[in-house]
Formats: sequence, structure tokens, C-alpha cells
Amino acid sequence: MHANKRIYLSAPHMSGREQHYIAEAFQSNWIAPLGPLVNTFEEKVADFAGVKAAAALSSGTAAIHLALRLLGVAKGDTVFCSSFTFVASANPILYEQAEPVFIDSERETWNMSPAALERALVEAKRAEKLPKAVIVVNLYGQSAKMDEIISLCDAYGIPVIEDAAESLGTTYKGKQSGTFGRFGIYSFNGNKIITTSGGGMLISDDEAAIEKARFLASQARDPAIHYQHSEVGHNYRLSNILAGVGISQMEVLGDRVKARRAVFDRYEKALGDVDGVSFLPELCESVSNRWLTAITLDNGVSPHDVINCLAEENIEARPLWKPLHTQPLFASSLYYPHQENESVCEDLFSRGICLPSGSNMTEDEQGRVINLLIKLFQKNEVNTWTTSIQ
Ligand SMILES: *Cc1c(COP(=O)(O)O)cnc(C)c1O
Repeated sequence: MHANKRIYLSAPHMSGREQHYIAEAFQSNWIAPLGPLVNTFEEKVADFAGVKAAAALSSGTAAIHLALRLLGVAKGDTVFCSSFTFVASANPILYEQAEPVFIDSERETWNMSPAALERALVEAKRAEKLPKAVIVVNLYGQSAKMDEIISLCDAYGIPVIEDAAESLGTTYKGKQSGTFGRFGIYSFNGNKIITTSGGGMLISDDEAAIEKARFLASQARDPAIHYQHSEVGHNYRLSNILAGVGISQMEVLGDRVKARRAVFDRYEKALGDVDGVSFLPELCESVSNRWLTAITLDNGVSPHDVINCLAEENIEARPLWKPLHTQPLFASSLYYPHQENESVCEDLFSRGICLPSGSNMTEDEQGRVINLLIKLFQKNEVNTWTTSIQ
């Protein structure tokens, strides 16, 4: 046992009402991947996002997979995807034996670069191999430049899937993140801003498509009394018990966004003036949920030094997502950097860290993190100063 209490990167934060809904599931005996709480959870998320329909699923990954299936992505098709993201954004492309093409980030949002996307579209058009879909990711709560991205994709007639797994509760130009493409997806994994322990949601204004998603998510069972199937299905629906957890978590989403933003603000106040420390920017037309506070260093300290220093004190921090085009799994995939000679996500990855950002982290706990970081950065300043006068 460590003397210091563990501080996690992003711990689950229950509202206290979960047990009430779980009890309701037990009382009604809807212990199944369907039921009244699933329906209510879907309505609550659709209302919150301001979309016509939502399908509750077993994970965010399942939601991306179903979005690809609904768009008819099949073997040999191309799908464009942000490179700077968690592998779950792109794995479903491989499930359908399609080919991912990765698009770099720009520096204002760390998300998909419209310049790189445009180059990729121009070349794909010339090669007569336009993508079947574009998956745009909103990292760490920050919305991508959706206007630019959607208008580019519209110009080529390519549908957009918005991976808002990390940006539930974020707004862009006053509209909820996840609602800009043909489909949006949310995740309720244990580390996300709200959680059902595991779960996801597919949202859209296309009610028929969402109905089809529910069908595909329940083994694609045709409407016949005997079990009849004409296409491949999945077992992707969300449990009615977990939907109860989700309903209760939706009730506190606004508070969770406020708390995460307060965590970010305290880090920025304490470290914003430190030389060589920069924070993930926020677009002026967007209000981020600040899921994780992410910083980049330009002071000679490596992300690994920071992670190890915090780990010694029982504090969890992590590097930024390793760009997918640099993953062994995607070694043969095409990649479009922001500019011909500038790969933004590789640069950010080499210098970036996610700091503990849980909405239930106390100010004292955050103070422990801040003090360690200040000490580490000061020590390094002295080192560079002594080496520079030698
Ligand atoms: C968490 C996450 C997912 C996947 O969600 P799961 O519910 O864990 O399957 C997808 N994309 C991004 C960017 C994520 O952070």
C-alpha cells in the first residue's frame, strides 16, 4: 500500500441515484438488453443532444461499427479517420475489412485538420476512390472545426460520423457536440465524463437509420415468430440495468462538465505562466467539457519524466493518444499530415500529457499534482541554467 491515496486520471463519479434505477430494473424484472429504462435513457440522450433518435448500445465502439454498417461500408471501401485518437475510433473500419486513411490534426483544436482532409479528398477524387465515410474525433472534450469539415465533406457528398466519445456535453456554436454529422456516437465507458461502467449511444436525425441500428444490434432478427435472419447481426444492445445507471448519470452531466472545467481552470491558473507549458486550446465558438486537462511541454521535460514523477506519488497521468498511423496495426495505412512537411499529431504526442482530471478529484488532491509539477519544472530550469553556463 502506498502512503498517498491514489489519484486516478479519470475515475467514475456516481450521482447517488443509480441504485434507485437499478432497484427499479430489479423490481420490474427487466433484466435484459432491452426494457423501459433503455427506452428512457435513449429519450434523455436524444433530448439533451437535440436529435430525433438515439440507440443505446453496449459500447461506443459498437456505435461506430453500426454507423459504418448503416452507411454501407464494406470490404475494400476507404474510410477517412482522425489519426490522433484512441484505437476504438478506427477498429470498426477493420471489422468491415475496409481501409482506413488517417488525417492529421491542426494546432487550434488538436483535431482533424481541414487542410489535410481537403488534400486527401482531392487526391481520392482524382484516384476515383472517394471514402464511404469520414470519422471525425473530438479529443479530450474539444470540438473539431465542424463547419469546415462538414462543408468539405458535403462538397464531395461524403457522410460524416462524429466520434464524440470524449465530448459529451461540449457545445460548438451553441449546438451539442456529436450532432454535426449524419451520425454521432457517445461512450459511457468507466473513464468518460459520465459512465454506465460500459455502454454507448448512436444518435442521428435519421429515425429510420436508428431503428435499423436497433435491429442490427439485436442479431438482425427478422419480424417472424420463428428465428429468421437475412443479414449479419450483432449482440450490441445495452442492458436495462446499465441504462438505469445512465439515466441517473445524465441527470448530473451539467455538474460534471462544470467540475471538469473547474479542474482545468485550477491547473491553468497554477501552471499557465510556467515557461514552456501550454494547454489544449479552446475554440472561441466552442465550450469544451474539458474531459481531460491536456498540456504540452516545451521546457526540456519529457512526458515520461512527468508520468514517472507523478507515479512515484501514486498519481496517474498518461501520454496523449499515440497517432494511429504510427501504430503497428495500421502500418500499411495512408496518412495525410497537416502540411506536406508538418505532422501536427506526432509533434503533440511527443510533448503531451493528460493530467488527472476526474470530476470527483478534491482541490487538495489537485494541489498535490500541481506542487509536484511545479517542483519538477523548477528543478529542470536549474539544470538547464547550470548546463548553459558551463
Ligand atoms: C472511449 C472512446 C471510444 C470507445 O468507446 P467505448 O465505449 O470504450 O467502446 C471511441 N473513441 C474515442 C475517442 C474514445 O475515447
